[in-house]
Amino acid sequence: MSWEANVRKVEPYVAGEQPKDHNIIKLNTNECPYPPAPGVAKRAEEMNCGDLRLYPDMNAEKLVNSLSEYYHVDPAKIFVGVGSDDVLAMSFMTFFNSDKPILFPDITYSFYDVWAELYRIPYKTCALTDDFHMKKEDYMVPNGGVIFPNPNAPTGVLESVDMIEEIIRENRDVVVIIDEAYVDFGGESVLPLIDKYDNLLVVQTFSKSRALAGMRIGFAMGSEKLIGYLKDAKFSFNSYTLNMPAIEMGVEAVKDDAYFKKTVNRIIATRERVKGELKELGFDFTDSKSNFLFATHKTVPAGELFRVLKENGIYVRYWNKKRIDNRLRITIGTDEQMDRLISFLKEYLK
Ligand code: PMP
Repeated sequence: MSWEANVRKVEPYVAGEQPKDHNIIKLNTNECPYPPAPGVAKRAEEMNCGDLRLYPDMNAEKLVNSLSEYYHVDPAKIFVGVGSDDVLAMSFMTFFNSDKPILFPDITYSFYDVWAELYRIPYKTCALTDDFHMKKEDYMVPNGGVIFPNPNAPTGVLESVDMIEEIIRENRDVVVIIDEAYVDFGGESVLPLIDKYDNLLVVQTFSKSRALAGMRIGFAMGSEKLIGYLKDAKFSFNSYTLNMPAIEMGVEAVKDDAYFKKTVNRIIATRERVKGELKELGFDFTDSKSNFLFATHKTVPAGELFRVLKENGIYVRYWNKKRIDNRLRITIGTDEQMDRLISFLKEYLK
């Protein structure tokens, strides 16, 4: 028998492209088009590299405390990781260990089925409606856990806190994870519910609204019990995950709330303006509450638009997948970047 028979074989998640050419208008991976809070760069300059001889604080206490203060959540209810991907991967491993399938939408973050396959977790997808909303009844059947983003990705569609609470209430015997990667762009967080439901885990990230995708910082908030189990799993895997610069810069990003709000509001304003202009060009899209649009054109196929945009130095995201193969996911960039996108489309669609 070949050694390959015992390899854990997986089909990996395909991340959006990171081109080397800096002239590209990069609207493909939902990063923030603006720099992180000014304090972040300042802290990077000041950092005493001598500290790097030592291991970082494996509890990242400084960052946990600043999140605790900002969100008014006890530090024992906060878990941090290397981007929310790390937090989510650890959560799948820790909480989804049932023989029953975990549930998530058929159109959603395409890492969920990859983690399920990696850990051999049975899963079942629930079809969204034609306007990409979840049907709550789909999640009220026997299952091994529930996970979905709110707003959903790549649709941008937001579900109400009331509906999510109903789903949590019906699933007290499993862990329910709400992935709030994009919640700062106009969604309402279910964070206040963590004190009511000890099986609710809320996951957020510094990669989008806090402009720190490159630093890799994510976090989860939930009952002390849930967070305790997550920490046990993490400390059985790799203790020192967040490095010192990430901890320091994360703290600086949280400190500057005025800058955070200004940046987020700027992106929301651009998003709403661009919605109007794309509509005039014959596009239709969901009412996205995130930092991207999920757009389809009434005559020109999305695959063609993806290709010509790329040839012209404008990267967006396209999936040749059932139900979404005529849609583009377009990250909201700066006003200038969006103007260049729109003037190209105007010319091309003439
Ligand atoms: N959740 C969703 C829904 C996402 O779109 C992303 C970004 N790819 C992530 C989580 C992970 O982001 P990060 O690891 O940068 O925090």
